[in-house]
Amino acid sequence: MKRVVVLGCTGSIGTSTAKVAADLPEHIQIVGLAAGRNAPLLRAQVAQFKPKAISISDPALARELRNELHPTVEVHSGDEGLLKLATMPEADIVLIAIVGTAGLQPALAAIRAGKDIAVASKEILVMAGETVMSEARQHGVRVLAVDSEHSAIFQCLDGKPSQSVRRLWLTASGGPFRTTPREAFASITLEQALKHPSWQMGSKITIDSATLFNKGLEMIEARWLFDIEMARVGVVVHPQSVIHSMVEFVDGSIIAQMSTPDMCLPIQYALTYPQRAASDRVQTNFAKIGSLTFEEPDAERFPALQLARRAGEVGGTLPAVLNAANEIAVAAFGNRKIGFLKITEVVRTTMEAHPVVSKPSLDEILQADRWAREFATRAV
Ligand code: NDP
Repeated sequence: MKRVVVLGCTGSIGTSTAKVAADLPEHIQIVGLAAGRNAPLLRAQVAQFKPKAISISDPALARELRNELHPTVEVHSGDEGLLKLATMPEADIVLIAIVGTAGLQPALAAIRAGKDIAVASKEILVMAGETVMSEARQHGVRVLAVDSEHSAIFQCLDGKPSQSVRRLWLTASGGPFRTTPREAFASITLEQALKHPSWQMGSKITIDSATLFNKGLEMIEARWLFDIEMARVGVVVHPQSVIHSMVEFVDGSIIAQMSTPDMCLPIQYALTYPQRAASDRVQTNFAKIGSLTFEEPDAERFPALQLARRAGEVGGTLPAVLNAANEIAVAAFGNRKIGFLKITEVVRTTMEAHPVVSKPSLDEILQADRWAREFATRAV
């Protein structure tokens, strides 16, 4: 039985986690739930899972919940609430599924409190992967991937060291504009970018999947999770999203992990690891799928991949800058302040203007993140 805290319980990953927990009551007990603003859904989840503690961003909503819930449920709020939940003595593992970088400090707090962490929020590994992984090593805790690609790689690697690996292959669906001609990119609308061909996800990651920044962030995430240099992290477009990623070993053998796309599977694997729990939720019918196809990603239409590769290779504060500029640009596109092409342009100009600090401390990373947000906001 794993006792689990979910940070970001009301989002796309959070609600899939709730399904997995409901499927596996003998394996998973939810002890803490943290939401942003969605009090009605949080309330419903409290009724279903009866956690020991909850948190919600807004202190006024926290007061309301405190008044109406049974007094045995601790109700926290704000950043402090996230830290309280991340360090709950009752928890074995903390799943971080808050969009963006707000999960970084809770992730570090959980690690320092000796908890394993399951990371959906790839942004925190992009921003501070070296710090997160070295703190986890120091405290002897696991960093388990929730991203389907990284879960796939973890399963294919099966404990083999990085010297036995020639390349990690991240698969990419290619997003909604995989076959859209370059000339049409300038007129891409928000509604078009929010229609992902194979995954139902939160809006930020859906737009990241349309620009392919999502795959770029995942390349950097893989670099840290699996301690492998960027040059050995490849991307191949695979529109069916059935192969979630692959490992090519030094002898030329390639192992892939496959299933019908459903985030419940990597979430379940992270929460029950090292066991595999029986579940009928995800079924895969190869005859129905028919064929699996592969393409080279188009660097010209999707420059995000190259920008992310450069950020990962240069390292230091540059990945944090890429990530922060992207968050600002995606939010601006979401508010219809800029066009689709401008997202990549804002990230590129912010990266070019940044004086990189190599081997940065956490403070220097946070400073670079703030700088990039201000610069990108002006660029928007
Ligand atoms: P959503 O936008 O659907 O959900 C975000 C969650 O974060 C919500 O529960 C939201 O609360 C919560 N939240 C936001 N700010 C705060 C805060 N300050 N304090 C507490 N909670 C907060 O995002 P997704 O679930 O799609 O993505 C979450 C992360 O997982 C992202 O980093 C994404 O890249 C990653 N990921 C997502 C995948 C997917 O399939 N969705 C796949 C792989 C990775 P509320 O709704 O209550 O405001």
